[in-house]
Amino acid sequence: MCLINGKDYNYYLYADLKKYCTFKIGGKAKYVVEVYNIPALINVCYKCKLHNIKYKAIGLGANLLFSDAGFDGVIIVNKASQIMFRKTNVYATSGVVVSNLISKCIEHNLSGLEYLAGIPSTVGGAITNSLGAFNADFANFVEYVVCLDLNNFKIVKLDNSQCQFGYRTSIFKSGNFIILKTKLKLQHLDKAKIKENFLVALNKKISTQPLNYPSAGSVFKRTDVIPAKLIDELGLKGLRTNGASVSTKHAGFIINEGGASSSDVIDLINKIKAKVKKAYQVDLPLEIEIVE
Ligand SMILES: Cc1cc2nc3c(=O)[nH]c(=O)nc-3n(C[C@H](O)[C@H](O)[C@H](O)COP(=O)(O)OP(=O)(O)OC[C@H]3O[C@@H](n4cnc5c(N)ncnc54)[C@H](O)[C@@H]3O)c2cc1C
Repeated sequence: MCLINGKDYNYYLYADLKKYCTFKIGGKAKYVVEVYNIPALINVCYKCKLHNIKYKAIGLGANLLFSDAGFDGVIIVNKASQIMFRKTNVYATSGVVVSNLISKCIEHNLSGLEYLAGIPSTVGGAITNSLGAFNADFANFVEYVVCLDLNNFKIVKLDNSQCQFGYRTSIFKSGNFIILKTKLKLQHLDKAKIKENFLVALNKKISTQPLNYPSAGSVFKRTDVIPAKLIDELGLKGLRTNGASVSTKHAGFIINEGGASSSDVIDLINKIKAKVKKAYQVDLPLEIEIVE
């Protein structure tokens, strides 16, 4: 693969994946390519496909656990960050960081996304995972998503219903698309009120989640049970495997207290799953994604 470092790309050989995820865990990727605009994102995907190289596009890596063995291919770090405002419509490329988007929306007196304060994500990750908190869902503001269909390398526009948004899921979870950009529809509101909503949401996050430790957020997905509640009831807060432990602040989080490996986290996950299964006959599905 031939890329030139510059304003469109930056690439690194045998790059440490710890730097590209919020868990600060993982081996090395054969290549990491940071892309700074949408044509560069498409070009890297195309070149990988052409040369039959395994690849994966990521945002902040806030929902990922990279394997200790690393990634034998290209991790594409999406930093394509353009935002445009037209009245209550917001056009954003997929590498825009949601916290930056929220700040810009507040400047433009646009309300909706401020309830997602304090959650690490890019727009691409938020759409893929149907990011949400406190009854606010990113998906509710999406009018359409423009993406690259990896089966035929055609650019397609999917409206909200075609995105198949569900609880922490969407059509993009299949890995068959690269999200390029989106149009969001927000609402005008008084700036002071939006800032107040923002601070309430942010304070809730700070008071309930271990944001001072590396993690990938909630490890297990909510189904008809709340995993954190079951884990807490079983007294598993503080359970550990080496540097990985169940947060004492939020039982749904596994934190990296320093030097945790991916296999430490997986070992801890298996211990938790086994104890929950034994006590409640419930299988906890993963919300975090293991990348290998
Ligand atoms: C402290 C903390 C708190 C959290 N709290 C919440 C919460 O309250 N609510 C919640 O929903 N989540 C929460 N999370 C999880 C995480 O923030 C979300 O899942 C987020 O949307 C991940 O975004 P990302 O950009 O980092 O995506 P990544 O983790 O980098 O990627 C996630 C998936 O999206 C895919 N993807 C990313 N960009 C693209 C693209 N352009 N095209 C195609 N596929 C793409 C990746 O391949 C991967 O499969 C939390 C995480 C942390 C660390």
